[in-house]
Amino acid sequence: MTDDTRRTDGRGAAIDAEGVELTYADGTEAVKGIDLTVPEGEFFGFLGANGAGKTTTIKTFSTLLSPTAGSITVNGFDVRDEPRRVRETIGYMAQETSVDEELTARENIRFAARAYGVPKGERAERIDELLDLVDLADVGDKQAGEFSGGMKKRLDAATALVHDPPLVFLDEPTTGLDPKARNRLWEYFERINERGTTLFLTTQYLEEADQLCDRIAVIMGGEIVATGSPAELKRRVGGEILDVDVPAGEDARERAAEIAREGDVFDADADVAVTDDGISVTAERAREHGTDLLVALRDAGITVTGFNIRAPTLDDVFLAITGEELDSEERSADHDDVTGPEVTAE
Ligand code: ATP
Repeated sequence: MTDDTRRTDGRGAAIDAEGVELTYADGTEAVKGIDLTVPEGEFFGFLGANGAGKTTTIKTFSTLLSPTAGSITVNGFDVRDEPRRVRETIGYMAQETSVDEELTARENIRFAARAYGVPKGERAERIDELLDLVDLADVGDKQAGEFSGGMKKRLDAATALVHDPPLVFLDEPTTGLDPKARNRLWEYFERINERGTTLFLTTQYLEEADQLCDRIAVIMGGEIVATGSPAELKRRVGGEILDVDVPAGEDARERAAEIAREGDVFDADADVAVTDDGISVTAERAREHGTDLLVALRDAGITVTGFNIRAPTLDDVFLAITGEELDSEERSADHDDVTGPEVTAE
């Protein structure tokens, strides 16, 4: 399925990785041979469940870990030969918020500007511009310790941009944020991407990848198992999806799945899965044959409490590709706008 991992559409490559492997000292093979090219200006999403290898990959691309095998060029610089040049040309927003709570928002950005060697004469203007960009201009002189989790994340993102890098890595930037805070960060990311900055985002939120990314790679067990635009990936799932709600108990869902598979209701290549609510059938012309299935289920004495026909979502793509659903508990965005370290809870 990985047919277009090396596509750049004639643009220069912000990231060019070939055969990248990373094995930790304890023998854990976290990354197992990744080939990937991210063209300049792209909003690229790296999607995977907990432990799939997203952070390890981002760390090898940003010189925090040295790959066990393979080669990586970032902004034209080899991560092994010219790690300093790589670091000068990237921004990195880690999972853990790195703002200093004792400092104001402005002081946090000023500190980063000094650390990144932004010329003194340019600093004040740059800081104002960044505070504005992340909607923190009004609270620029307030201590970061008073900020909500979402505000800290925005401040963190601003500091990652202080040296105006052409490429920014965002490692699960919205984990633990409530939907409102998440949406504001999304707007901000879209804004910096529109300015021409290449973004490499890791996420376990399917809707985040769907909404923001030009192209997505799905990583599973340290390997890329699919790459494409959200629309391309959805097309690969194909057909329509019929969700049928069946109450649990007495193997009702398993029996319903069996009927959907074995009866002559759908084409032979239909895909039937038992879900948290009942069963889900992916098939060409699911709409047309849906009522036949409902009749067959009724004849078998199986209660149906609801049904719905829809186009595939990225959730379906993920399920089809990996055979797993991303943990819905982890993906739910119903947390409060938490502060401090909880923002980065894994
Ligand atoms: P998460 O969403 O939990 O951050 P991830 O997709 O970023 O997951 P990684 O953190 O890259 O995944 O982890 C990939 C694999 O490597 C996991 O099995 C993890 O337990 C293991 N791992 C991560 N860091 C280390 C380490 N320092 N030493 C040994 N194994 C590690």
